[in-house]
Amino acid sequence: MAGQEHVIGIDLGTTNSVVATVIDGEVHVIPDESGARLQASIVAFLQDGSIVVGNGARQEAVVDPGNTIYSAKRLIGRHFSSKEIKTAVQQFPYRVVKGKNQMPLVEVRGERYGLPEISGMVLRRMKDIAERYLGAPASQAVITVPANFNDTQRQMTKLAGNLAGLDVLRVVNEPTAAALAYGFGRDIDARIAIYDFGGGTFDITILQVRGNVFEVVATAGDTFLGGDDFDNRLARYMLLAFKQQHGFSVENDPMAFSRLKQVAEKLKCELSLKDRAIVNVRELAVDASGQPLDLRFQVDRASVDERCQDIIQRSFLVCDEALREAGMKAADVDGVVLVGGTTRMPLVREMVAEYFRREPMTELNPDEVVGIGAAIQGASLVVDPFAANAPPQPLLLDVTPMSLGVQTVSGFFDVLIPRNASIPCDQSRVFTTTVDDQTTVRLQIYQGESKVAAENVRLGEIELYGLRAAPRGEVKIQVTFEIDSDGMVVVTARDRETGIEQATRINVSAGYSQDEVEAMIERGI
Ligand code: AMP
Repeated sequence: MAGQEHVIGIDLGTTNSVVATVIDGEVHVIPDESGARLQASIVAFLQDGSIVVGNGARQEAVVDPGNTIYSAKRLIGRHFSSKEIKTAVQQFPYRVVKGKNQMPLVEVRGERYGLPEISGMVLRRMKDIAERYLGAPASQAVITVPANFNDTQRQMTKLAGNLAGLDVLRVVNEPTAAALAYGFGRDIDARIAIYDFGGGTFDITILQVRGNVFEVVATAGDTFLGGDDFDNRLARYMLLAFKQQHGFSVENDPMAFSRLKQVAEKLKCELSLKDRAIVNVRELAVDASGQPLDLRFQVDRASVDERCQDIIQRSFLVCDEALREAGMKAADVDGVVLVGGTTRMPLVREMVAEYFRREPMTELNPDEVVGIGAAIQGASLVVDPFAANAPPQPLLLDVTPMSLGVQTVSGFFDVLIPRNASIPCDQSRVFTTTVDDQTTVRLQIYQGESKVAAENVRLGEIELYGLRAAPRGEVKIQVTFEIDSDGMVVVTARDRETGIEQATRINVSAGYSQDEVEAMIERGI
């Protein structure tokens, strides 16, 4: 790749992010200035006005939780009224407020930021890490997203990349990237399951790999199942122990619980390596007389396993769903790839082996496998396939995780592209006027599986306007809904009578308002 700019692959994680690139045919996971290959996806806004991003911001989450933004990926591209944002507003220590168009903003030190700005700051940090390592600019990137991200979440992630000064060549699904990391160049013919248990989400994807062709057969996920659930469970266990030790409850003290959750996470990770662990939490609370109270907590892995088994069990309900879609049984899978920090838990590995009736593959670091795949995909996008000695290129055949459709007059959901359809794909439908002299037709676009349109995720609105005034039903507009290889929705319309493209007359209003986006660009990252 002499003389060519390196494309970087970024795994933009909920908890941690990874950047990798291919140099002379070899993948490098890029370390930061202190040698760390994983970077916390955290942005801390300090009192002096400076902003710290990455591992340096981790400590701020403990000492100044109100001004430290983590888990932005859970919020990006979601509507303020969604269940996920409501949960976040209740549970997160930082402020999430409603912006225009129902999009959430975080409020820190008197300033409001869009979620793409926060994720953009993390991406900028990853870009800087890569540039320092390469000693050259790295402005082209492949960014990974969860397979079940909808159109708005993908658009917002791409916007985050643009705000970070990146040209986002492709948005790739995380499990597809993981499969690439394992299977590319190995010339295998196998059905692979990617079992991805991260900090906040769980995903399962079944792929058929034949040589360089990676075809996703089915994918399913739970956006509120992850390592955090174990931390919460363990923190509650600690609350109980504290109450038993002191006869005093700190249940309603959010600061104490936040501290316990941090300790719980460390303890959980320790228990992945050891059978038992002890922790001392100093001055967790003060009693009625002002006396500080500590918590001494001793725990063994077996008792934590017993308390957490049901959380892991929930992941298999999602696996059942994906296998059903794929028309397969768990035992039909030829290999299971583990992705995400939570798969380091011995109990997770044990239960996965039991469910699939085979030991999972663990050669690659579960934290890095997605970033590695993104780098492989990135490198392939800039190779001229017709050049002499061009290396073989992977072919990714992905699927859309949710059905795409429009709302009917009676409020039902009319599916145009079903869930798990191979992408890129398109579907056309003819729409017409319902009253005489109607010059505008409005279509509400949704993604989801409910028969009732409003119960799905609203992506936006398309307005076909400037139509010829005519008796109802006479003007016919053919609308084509396309899902591109980034999993994003593209809509075009054509007047059937004249054949004229109506694309310029389409107005998809989803996401942040124009002035909010302009403010993000202007603020810079
Ligand atoms: P990810 O989103 O893939 O970065 O995964 C982050 C999650 O993995 C967090 O909930 C971590 O607490 C969890 N995690 C990381 N390392 C371990 C470990 N050794 N044992 C258990 N959980 C871990």
